Amino acid sequence: MYEATLKRVFGYESFRPGQRDIIHAVIEGQDVLAVMPTGAGKSLTFQLPSYIKNQGLTVIVSPLLSLIEDQMLHIRERGERGVARLTSMESAEEKQDIINHLKRYRFLYLSPEQLAVPYVTRALANVKIQMLVIDEAHCISQWGHEFRPEYARLGELRKQIGSPQCMAVTATAPEGVKQDIIEKLALFSPEQFVHSANRPEIRLLVERLEKEKKLERLKELIREIPKPAVVYTATRREAEALAFELEDALFYHGGMSTEDRRLVQSQFLRDEVSVMVCTSAFGMGVNKDNVRSVVHFQLPATVEAYMQEIGRAGRDGQPAFAVLLYADGDERIQQFLIDGQYPKDEDMRLAYFERENGTSIAQLPRLLRMNEEDPKFLLLKQLLTERSLQEALDWVKERKRDRYRQLGQMMDYALIRTCRRDYLLRYFSEQTVDQEECCDVCGPIPFPDTPQIVRKNVTEWKIRLTQIFSFE
Ligand code: ADP
Ligand code: MG
Repeated sequence: MYEATLKRVFGYESFRPGQRDIIHAVIEGQDVLAVMPTGAGKSLTFQLPSYIKNQGLTVIVSPLLSLIEDQMLHIRERGERGVARLTSMESAEEKQDIINHLKRYRFLYLSPEQLAVPYVTRALANVKIQMLVIDEAHCISQWGHEFRPEYARLGELRKQIGSPQCMAVTATAPEGVKQDIIEKLALFSPEQFVHSANRPEIRLLVERLEKEKKLERLKELIREIPKPAVVYTATRREAEALAFELEDALFYHGGMSTEDRRLVQSQFLRDEVSVMVCTSAFGMGVNKDNVRSVVHFQLPATVEAYMQEIGRAGRDGQPAFAVLLYADGDERIQQFLIDGQYPKDEDMRLAYFERENGTSIAQLPRLLRMNEEDPKFLLLKQLLTERSLQEALDWVKERKRDRYRQLGQMMDYALIRTCRRDYLLRYFSEQTVDQEECCDVCGPIPFPDTPQIVRKNVTEWKIRLTQIFSFE
C-alpha cells in the first residue's frame, strides 16, 4: 500500500533501505527519531505519510533557507501545489496570506524563528497539524556541531501548537546528541531508527604534510582524484583564493548573495565545472549524486561536520574518496573561529555593567561595537536575560572548552595510526566493520584512471565571477 503511494506521488519504484519502517511508525502515530546518513532519503519519510493519512498540515522546521528552497522545489516539481514557506524572504502580506489560508496546504516549511513568532504559533495552534517535523535535528543539541540557539525553544513551541506527533531527523547524532533531541523535544517514547554512519563506498585518506607544501599538493591532487570534487576550506577568503589557483574550479561561501550562490551551485550540479571550492556553507541540501571526491584543505571543527561533508561524495553508491590534508598547527584556524563565535570576557563584563546602570539592550551593540544581528550579540542578549555575569562567563568558558575538545577529536582522526573508519564509527558508538579499500592506514588506496568530465564554458564563468565579486 505504501508502495502505491510511493509510485503515484513520488514516481519511485521502491523504497530505499530503512524508509519503509520509518514511514510505518509515523503512520502508526508514534513519535520518531530517525538518524540516517545524508542522501539516504529522509524527506520522503515525513512527506509520504501525509498522502496516506491526509489528516492536516505537516509542519517542517528547517534551519536554512537554502534547504527549504531546495525541498520546496522538489515538491513543486512533482506537481504538489499545497506547499508554503514562512521565512525571511516572504513579505508581511505574503505571510499573512499563508497564515489566513493554512488549510490550503499539505506542507508548511519554516525556520524556528518563524515558528516562534506569536501570531504564527497562535495560527498553528488553531489548525489540525498531522505532524511536526524537525529537520536537521542535531541543531537542537549543544553537543552537536551546528547548535542553533533558536532550536532550543522547539519543545516549548511544540506544546503551544497542541503537542502534535513529532518526528526528528538528522544525519549525524552520536549518543549525547540523540538524548538531547529526545529530551528537548519531549518526544514520547519515540521509535528510534538509527542507520549506520558508515559509508562503505567512501575511501578515507589523510595526507600529513608541511604547511608550505599544501597548495602544491592540492593542485596535484586535484589532477589525480576523480571528479566532480568538492574542496572544503575553513574561511571564505581561502575558498576564493584556492578557486583561482585550481583549474576548472568555482568557489562558494556564505558571504555571497543568494543569487550568486545559486548560479555557482547550478554550474556545479550540471557538471559545467568539476571542482567546487567552498566553506561549510556548501552542501546541506545539495542534491548531487555523482560527487567523486571531497578534499579538506583545512581541518573541520568536529568529526560530525567531517562526516556530513564527506557524506556528500558517492551518494550514487559508486566508489568515492575523502582526502584530508593536514599540516601541524592547522587547528589554530578553527580555534580562532571558535573564539570568534563567543563574546569576549571584557565585552560581557561591560554589557552586564551597562545593563545594571540602566543602559537598554538596544544601545548595547553600539557600545560594544557589535552588529545587532551578530550571533555573538544574540547570544550575549540571551545570557543577559537568563544568567548572572559569573554564570555567563562560566557558560562561555565551558562551551569553548567543549568545542576545543571536539576539535581535538577531529585532530586525532588526522593523527591516528589505526583504522580511520573504525575511529569514525566508534565516535558514533558503532561497531567496527571490515572492508576492502578502507583507508590509507589499512592499505594503499589507488585513485582510478577515470576519464575527466568534459568542461563547458568555464573560462567565461570565471571571468563573469571575477566581475561579480570584489576581493579585499
Ligand atoms: P536526506 O535528507 O536523507 O539527506 P533527501 O531526502 O534529500 O536525503 O533525499 C536524497 C535524494 O534521494 C533525493 O533526490 C530524493 O528524491 C531521493 N530519494 C529518496 N527516496 C528515494 C527512493 N525511494 N527512490 C529513489 N530516490 C529516492
Ligand atoms: Mg535532508
